Amino acid sequence: DERRILQYQITLYGDDERLVMARDITRLHRLEQMRRDFVANVSHELRTPLTVLTGYLETYGDLKEQLPPRLGRGIAQMEEQTKRMQNLVNDLLLLSRLEIDQGGGDHHPLALGPMLDSVRRDALALSNQQHNVQVVLESDAQLIASEQELHSAISNLAFNAVRYTPQGSHITLRWKTLPNGSACIEVDDDGEGIDPVHIPRLTERFYRVDKGRSTATGGTGLGLAIVKHVLLRHDAFLQIESHPGEGALFRCVFPSSRVVESEPHLA
Ligand code: ADP
Repeated sequence: DERRILQYQITLYGDDERLVMARDITRLHRLEQMRRDFVANVSHELRTPLTVLTGYLETYGDLKEQLPPRLGRGIAQMEEQTKRMQNLVNDLLLLSRLEIDQGGGDHHPLALGPMLDSVRRDALALSNQQHNVQVVLESDAQLIASEQELHSAISNLAFNAVRYTPQGSHITLRWKTLPNGSACIEVDDDGEGIDPVHIPRLTERFYRVDKGRSTATGGTGLGLAIVKHVLLRHDAFLQIESHPGEGALFRCVFPSSRVVESEPHLA
């Protein structure tokens, strides 16, 4: 269609002068849309062959004991790599859905206690109970959010905290409201932290501090991009604070319009 998309930039000079600049970003917008559709389609098309592969591998996996060791090891490798590919395709599809379906999702007032407890259990399972994971609730306010989306965002942060810290590290999942009415969910660890030069780029797709290590930990490189998009859909943003050797803090900040304070209890 013939609609154009313009981006305006207004600069104020003193009280009565302004400079208005308009940029036609129609082409840029279309290219971006094509990129999104392409990624969504490719990910979708990859699902069928992956399902077939997984099906056969399950059958052969049962025979692993009877096969010569070399073949058995080959099958184990194939199982591992198909699992990786499946995680990647699932994350790509989730990310496309978050990008394409603007403002969608089923938003309700949500109690954070049960949600954070469930993330805590999953994180402990991922770490084979080798990390100390605790939930700290400093507020009983509720958050207007999509439970499913928020759960996947906070899980990504908690799983990262498990995957990028040594056994025995402490991880805290915290919910609190601030004096100005906004609220935040924090995921905090005492691992080796991140050099601040990397922080501005961490939410880019496939950006990794240490490529080799990240692949070994089983991540897809899309975790923090997913977190960023989920938060955008909740009018929220991600703050990252970290220094080498001093752990990392990932803070999701929600505006007061999303916070439902609990009614004071009647005496
Ligand atoms: P992935 O973990 O799959 O590589 P993410 O987008 O989830 O992708 O994370 C991007 C990068 O941020 C990781 O590769 C890792 O280098 C770094 N990172 C994320 N969380 C932590 C953490 N808690 N401590 C140290 N580094 C982290």
